[in-house]
Amino acid sequence: MSYKESTTPPDGYDVGRENMLDFKIDEQFEMLEQSDAKNFILTTVDEVFNWAKLSSIWPVTFGLACCAIEMIAASATRYDIDRFGAGAFRATPRQADLMIVSGTVTAKMARRLKLIYDQMPEPKWVMAMGSCAIGGGPYFKYGYHVVKGVDYMVPVDIYVPGCPPRPEVLLEGLMRLQDKIRGRQGKMVTPKWVQDYAKKIPYQK
Ligand code: SF4
Repeated sequence: MSYKESTTPPDGYDVGRENMLDFKIDEQFEMLEQSDAKNFILTTVDEVFNWAKLSSIWPVTFGLACCAIEMIAASATRYDIDRFGAGAFRATPRQADLMIVSGTVTAKMARRLKLIYDQMPEPKWVMAMGSCAIGGGPYFKYGYHVVKGVDYMVPVDIYVPGCPPRPEVLLEGLMRLQDKIRGRQGKMVTPKWVQDYAKKIPYQK
């Protein structure tokens, strides 16, 4: 049975959705149809290694405050972080690839956090999840005990904004990390409601 391209999208199909993906479904189907005589794969060892890395990003079990609840939700059935191969939260940094700093980093905790990071084997990545980890969050002004950004201690690869960020945002950050491992820049799509909202902010032209 061959694939036949439909000229009219089915009811309820969001045409803009396809543009949000970084590949074109129709183009890929066409390539499949024409692939009778060309079904071989050409790649590099680096690409295979990168594919293996980005498909098995194991995070270290590590949560500091309220953002950790959202991280836990992302690994539960509704959001299922396992789809990305990143659901195996490790109880030891020695078996982990990713540190998701989810919560408020206090000065007291900072040295422990650095110790855990140092114990992780290379290659390793860090995700700053939530306003607290990114820059101190609600404790920025008066929180004398809070570190104003985890990037003072460890190199951060991905910043996931929000207070707290929802699990979808964490998954988005994970996909951008996969892009980074792949060696390509992620395609950021700003949803229309965000653009509309931005226009209402007075200092935005
Ligand atoms: S960013 Fe907000 S939700 Fe996350 S740890 Fe800080 S106060 Fe809690």
